[in-house]
Amino acid sequence: APASAAFVGKQAVKVVIRVRPSLPHEADTEACISTTGNQVAIVNPRNITERLAYTFDRVFGEADSQESVFAEVQPVVLRALAGNNATIFAYGQTGSGKTHTINGTASDSPGIIPRTVKCLLSHVGENALTASIAVSYLEIYNEKIFDLLAGEPKSLPNLDLRETASKSIVVSGLSNVVITSLGEFEKLHETALKNRSTAATNLNEASSRSHFIMQLSISNVLENGKTLSSKLHIIDLAGSEDNKRTGNVGARMVESGAINKSLFVLGQVVEALNKGHPRIPYRDSKITRFLQDSLGGGALGLMIACCAPGQQHYWDTYNTLNFATKSS
Ligand code: ADP
Ligand code: MG
Repeated sequence: APASAAFVGKQAVKVVIRVRPSLPHEADTEACISTTGNQVAIVNPRNITERLAYTFDRVFGEADSQESVFAEVQPVVLRALAGNNATIFAYGQTGSGKTHTINGTASDSPGIIPRTVKCLLSHVGENALTASIAVSYLEIYNEKIFDLLAGEPKSLPNLDLRETASKSIVVSGLSNVVITSLGEFEKLHETALKNRSTAATNLNEASSRSHFIMQLSISNVLENGKTLSSKLHIIDLAGSEDNKRTGNVGARMVESGAINKSLFVLGQVVEALNKGHPRIPYRDSKITRFLQDSLGGGALGLMIACCAPGQQHYWDTYNTLNFATKSS
């Protein structure tokens, strides 16, 4: 369809920015970032003559709602219903608004996951005999895959990836549960969040050291009997902060290494896809291996790079904007 073709453009992965508002406890810190139209600019607090401006397909500023972000996501969801695999992910340092964007707060400010499920269920509701939605939740932590619907991840064996004859990526033994109502989704979602690994760092008490992935398996039987199947991934990536500044030592440093490497490879994969490079380094990390059938090759991708506004986050924000620019 022309509308979705316009959405994809030449890019395999569309890159957009979201800058969150300053929070009440940050009231006395200055912002180092500003947005106008599809531009975002940062000023180095150590040298205010150093101003960098970046242009993206879309920039969401502090006043932009969850609803307006979902308007960007909805075409991807509709294309998934039409049989295209797709991946939507939030990138950024801890505290930049990734979880707010992906999950939101269930009651008053729902994010991409609940809005997507609602959109898909309303379609299923109208086509109950021919369409179905199933969900899996997984976590990639230290290059290992854990099933978040199977119990406490660290007590369970990690799961293997394999590629089928038709080039689909399958996680052996991953729970996959059909949902027919928002209530069923909410229960599973709560379980998955409860099972997610979190640990304290100097940056944030509940910093996420793992990639959190919701996989929606969509199946749609058409009037002519043909079945459209697709997978839609919605991902809250591990924090992109530089571990040298977060005081990580020992085991935590090993985690940081794995996180930094997987985010680096993800950036390389997106860059290679968007620039049309012949070799895409999917095999260089677990997350890109997992996403091999859902990034590039006709699948739709949307990266939301999240930024916190405060001056104290300047270097992380600088790194995020450069990561996003390199990828787009
Ligand atoms: P991350 O998941 O990247 O660590 P969070 O999503 O937890 O970051 O966001 C950090 C804090 O900022 C949270 O208190 C969250 O509620 C708040 N926040 C993030 N984005 C927004 C936004 N667009 N509007 C209002 N508050 C936000
Ligand atoms: Mg988070």
